[in-house]
Amino acid sequence: MNVRPPLGLKSPLRIPHKLLMGPGPSNSSPRILNALSQPILGHMHSELFDKLHFFQIMDEIKKGIQYVFQTNNQLTLAISASGHAGMEAVLCNLLEPHDVVLILINGIWGERAANLAERYGAIVRKLVKTALGSNFSIIEIENAVKIHQPKLLFVVQGESSTGIYQPIIGIGEITRRYNCLLVVDTVASLGAVPFLMDKWKVDAAYSGSQKIIGAPPGLAPISFNERALKTIANRKTPIPVYFWDITLLGQQWNCFERSAPRLYHHTTSATLLYGLREGLAVIADEGLEQVIKRHQHCAAQLYEGIEALGMQLYVDEEHKRLPSVTTIKVPDGVDWRKVTEYAMKRYKLEISGGLGPTAGKVFRVGIMGYNATQENIVFVLDVLKEALKHSVTSSK
Ligand code: PMP
Repeated sequence: MNVRPPLGLKSPLRIPHKLLMGPGPSNSSPRILNALSQPILGHMHSELFDKLHFFQIMDEIKKGIQYVFQTNNQLTLAISASGHAGMEAVLCNLLEPHDVVLILINGIWGERAANLAERYGAIVRKLVKTALGSNFSIIEIENAVKIHQPKLLFVVQGESSTGIYQPIIGIGEITRRYNCLLVVDTVASLGAVPFLMDKWKVDAAYSGSQKIIGAPPGLAPISFNERALKTIANRKTPIPVYFWDITLLGQQWNCFERSAPRLYHHTTSATLLYGLREGLAVIADEGLEQVIKRHQHCAAQLYEGIEALGMQLYVDEEHKRLPSVTTIKVPDGVDWRKVTEYAMKRYKLEISGGLGPTAGKVFRVGIMGYNATQENIVFVLDVLKEALKHSVTSSK
């Protein structure tokens, strides 16, 4: 063999601790980290050990996802990949070539969904928010649905690139009236704001494991209601990607007929599922309402501290701000990159710059899961204050 073992692989892995206060991933709690070092079980292990087997863990995760989505949908599970996979899976299963899809865009995630939908052959219509830092009104949404008559309306509840919160309440009534499906991206928002999937008549939704749930990246909670399932059953063309095929995944997760044997679709990551199980269990322990309140309190504390530092928030109106990702305008004469580098080098603290339409214009501070504490907010504010002093550009 000519290729030598790489020198870098000769020593064991050591990862420094960093406080992740960017838009995700967040730090996992010790309980979750401990779960990640539990023994691997086979993905089809039904043997009972200490009253526990792998299918039971999957069932517990399913119930936990139903809880955080506030849904009774049977077709609820975790897809084996990050938040993007949730986006792929909803679009891949619900859209067919030439279907019209309407996408609300107030940051990069709506644009990303448009990109994916086009790859599945859909005709993409966009409703773009041009006023920076604002969300869509119900009237704007209804008008666009009336004009475009889409099969599916795609909405991002928490735009992590702009820090905008899009209320979902009331949209489901519109989509039902126009015989349209409502799909919601909750990757950056689930657990920081209410999401009442059934009550708000959301037909399909997905999230990510690594943000407010606080588990490692790599799993996407997802749920489809009966209306969405009917759309899938009535498809004229096959679901184009095997890996996202929710009818097969639903059989692996025992979402359909209780007595049917589970199907092997793919080898799930036992370790990641343990982490997600614990992340959901921690939320269930604390109570979803309390988790949401904790995030909102921390966000209010951050807003106050930012204004006290003389900085401005990117989203003017407080009710339009996403509590889990705060966008803060980069003050004139400050090099944003120097600030984030200072925070990381000096304090091992991650805060991020902007993304897409906010690139170079804002800092993004994440308040997510285990990291959503008053102490961490005080720390972020202290570090920001110090970092700003060290990051004034000489040219301005
Ligand atoms: N949607 C939103 C709103 C997000 O914030 C993100 C991740 N930042 C994604 C989708 C994509 O998730 P992932 O990076 O886990 O694939």
